[in-house]
Amino acid sequence: MDLKSHIRGVPDYPKPGILFYDISPLLAHADAWAVAMGRMARLIQETGADFLVGIESRGFLMAAPLALKLGLGFAMVRKKGKLPGDVVRHSYDLEYGTDTVEIQADLVKPGQRVVVVDDLLATGGTMNAAIKLLRDVGAEVRAAGFLIELDFLEGRKKLDVPVLSLLNYD
Ligand code: 5GP
Repeated sequence: MDLKSHIRGVPDYPKPGILFYDISPLLAHADAWAVAMGRMARLIQETGADFLVGIESRGFLMAAPLALKLGLGFAMVRKKGKLPGDVVRHSYDLEYGTDTVEIQADLVKPGQRVVVVDDLLATGGTMNAAIKLLRDVGAEVRAAGFLIELDFLEGRKKLDVPVLSLLNYD
């Protein structure tokens, strides 16, 4: 199945000059979504992961069904202030200012073999921060998994783990 035919390029969103890859048509098509999750699950299975982590918010749409499919647990990495209780946080630089990601402190166990999942790899800044956060809680990050990778931004160069991606754009 041609999964790219279910990804919609939206010009000038969220800013002029940006082509946004919208995954909504894929989610709206039951067969395409199932095929995409099946293919991602196979890639992730080969890493020997025993736990999945999804990055807010579209990463949750990938990580939750993948975790169910693979029989694994799943935890959320969220922007600052969205998770209750004890959290561990990691701050990282943006073009202008900083951002902070958090995870609940007791969900990932030291030594756990984790794959971190997001919908799309652009510059790699978001995934890099999530990987650092997971290492802070003792996880062994086996890979970063994406539905879409924007090859021309070379985000994978920022990541020191294997990058798994299904659909590549250049
Ligand atoms: P990065 O940190 O790699 O530059 O940006 C990746 C993050 O921004 C991901 O969490 C992803 O959801 C979001 N993102 C950036 N560009 C796009 C896009 O064109 N389409 C989608 N669906 N998400 C994007």
